[in-house]
Amino acid sequence: MTNTQFQQLWVCFGQAVSKHKDELNQLDAAIGDADHGTNLDRGLQQVLEKMQAASPATLQATCKLVAMTLLSTVGGASGALWGSGLLAAAKVFPDTDTCDDKTLTQAIQAFVDSIEQRGKAVVGDKTMLDVFVPALSSLAQDAEPITVVVPEIAAHAKEWAEATASLQAKKGRAAYLGPRSVGHIDPGATSSALWWQCLGRIIGGSV
Ligand code: ADP
Ligand code: MG
Repeated sequence: MTNTQFQQLWVCFGQAVSKHKDELNQLDAAIGDADHGTNLDRGLQQVLEKMQAASPATLQATCKLVAMTLLSTVGGASGALWGSGLLAAAKVFPDTDTCDDKTLTQAIQAFVDSIEQRGKAVVGDKTMLDVFVPALSSLAQDAEPITVVVPEIAAHAKEWAEATASLQAKKGRAAYLGPRSVGHIDPGATSSALWWQCLGRIIGGSV
């Protein structure tokens, strides 16, 4: 992946979250505090502005800029989780323009590990990890090139997010609802699916 593609990923994600802002807020209204779309949208619009102003020249610099911006502008659980996850990923990305497929997988692995450590959630707890963990395991196991695997993952991401409806939340605000959280799709899993759809389009060459 190149630095340009990585920056396109954040442009795509910013546009997708903006487009689905109300839907993300509505999902969060059902099991949280109705701010997930607004939270992420605010942070990503700042990311796009800062990325344009600073034009970070390497994958590591871009990742750090996105991380710091999300940490400082996105309130709530998702800001801390995305921000700290991306700081961990930035340590894996090289301070150069391009990385190979293995390094991209390792960076996403570091992102997921960091979120697991910080949020103490596991798969099945009805969080963003219910999209990121199966996506990462497909990416890490598959023998095919990522230009094939990532678009396949992207095609499943929405199903993984929708499957959180049958789960009871164990972490985050939704956990306070206990069994009443069942029947609702997790907002963080839904926005995570948008991120994978963007990565699929960029790696697959349709952006
Ligand atoms: P807040 O819950 O603070 O209002 P957001 O609404 O922006 O934050 O984000 C909520 C999303 O964050 C949830 O839908 C869930 O996917 C994710 N989340 C919350 N807590 C955790 C956690 N401990 N681990 C992983 N993801 C979490
Ligand atoms: Mg919320």
